[in-house]
Amino acid sequence: LYQRSSSLFKEAEKVIPGGVNSPVRAFGAVGGTPIFAQSAKGAYIHDEDGRTYIDYINSWGPMILGHAFEPVVDAVVKKAKQGTSFGMPTAIETEIAELAVSMVPNIDKIRFVNSGTEACMSAVRLARGYTKKDKIIKFAGCYHGHSDAFLIAAGSGAITFGTPNSPGVTQGTAKDTLLAKFNDIDNVTQLVEANKEEIACIIIEPVAGNMGCIPPKDNFLQKLRALCDLHDILLIFDEVMTGFRLAAGGAQELYKVNADIVCFGKVIGGGLPVGAFAARNEIMDYLAPHGPVYQAGTLSGNPLAMAAGLAMLQQLNNDRTVYNRLAEKTEYLHHGMANALQDYNIKHTINRKGSMISIHFEDHEVHDFETAAKANNETFKKFFHGMLKEGVYIAPSAFETWFLCDALSYDDLDATI
Ligand code: PLP
Repeated sequence: LYQRSSSLFKEAEKVIPGGVNSPVRAFGAVGGTPIFAQSAKGAYIHDEDGRTYIDYINSWGPMILGHAFEPVVDAVVKKAKQGTSFGMPTAIETEIAELAVSMVPNIDKIRFVNSGTEACMSAVRLARGYTKKDKIIKFAGCYHGHSDAFLIAAGSGAITFGTPNSPGVTQGTAKDTLLAKFNDIDNVTQLVEANKEEIACIIIEPVAGNMGCIPPKDNFLQKLRALCDLHDILLIFDEVMTGFRLAAGGAQELYKVNADIVCFGKVIGGGLPVGAFAARNEIMDYLAPHGPVYQAGTLSGNPLAMAAGLAMLQQLNNDRTVYNRLAEKTEYLHHGMANALQDYNIKHTINRKGSMISIHFEDHEVHDFETAAKANNETFKKFFHGMLKEGVYIAPSAFETWFLCDALSYDDLDATI
């Protein structure tokens, strides 16, 4: 079956590069066939050809504690054997909700959905309903999921997934989405003042992870908070990437800034599909009279996914030293990467926050990803394939201008590079 998957991909790639017609997905491929993983444990992926890679991609997603993490595996198996129920409240959903609320500052209630995309869509819908306003401000380069409205205004590599192949995507779907510049409070203030009384919310990745790792500068988050307070705008932190990863309480804890609505994905599911959005009672209670369908679908909060997420959060909550270990290992990786790039004389910038690292082959504030991609394409490919040859698998960005790495919480990973 593994061989069939990769040959199907190779056939499909002959027709359209990237193998987009293949029945299997091609994430993580740069100018060629992706790795077809056969099994994975801890920090390591084993592919169908018997090669082993250190995995710097999957903890950037949900696997912050490594592949086949035993407490998660055991919890899911146990729950599956007990049988599951859908569409009714379960004790395990309450348990993970209470734990998440105790770990994250400034939230009283949390609702589970199936992905980060849904979490962000639900958050924006809640903000619109609660404020009775329509417009939203998002930041160029920040990614909030594969919903068309976010993609069309994404201004990042992500936009290639939404246009022109995605049917029904038109500028019209995003007419209420205003695009601001990350870390530029004057620009956001101007947008707010030009659209007074109309803006429901500002949604932001508090540490931008979808244009490389770009932390907020000069108290940007605090300034956004003040601007939102002044104009009755809700501040949404999309913590799908940063939540439970940068700190147990995410960016709110790290930067000591409260958001009004917070979105989660990735880590909160322990590897199963879970998204969530959360807020204080005052905002969440807006949902109550609108019935359960307003906030959830068939599989939302399903017990298997809740079991995985609960086991993951329990681990992170019980052993918060993991965040210190992350910082140490990330520093080590940073120096290793910098030395390797210097040895090969490759011009680069490395950004780092917590466990997130990104390597850029162009000025990291360049937002014109297409131009940067053209300028750096060969270096990018060489670096990616060079790393693969050494058995190191890093996450390429969609426009092939930067890499994101984050696998450092794996305790079996001593020699990182
Ligand atoms: N928001 C951010 C910040 C993300 O990084 C992602 C996914 O990469 C999403 C939202 C979408 O989450 P999902 O892929 O689970 O739908």
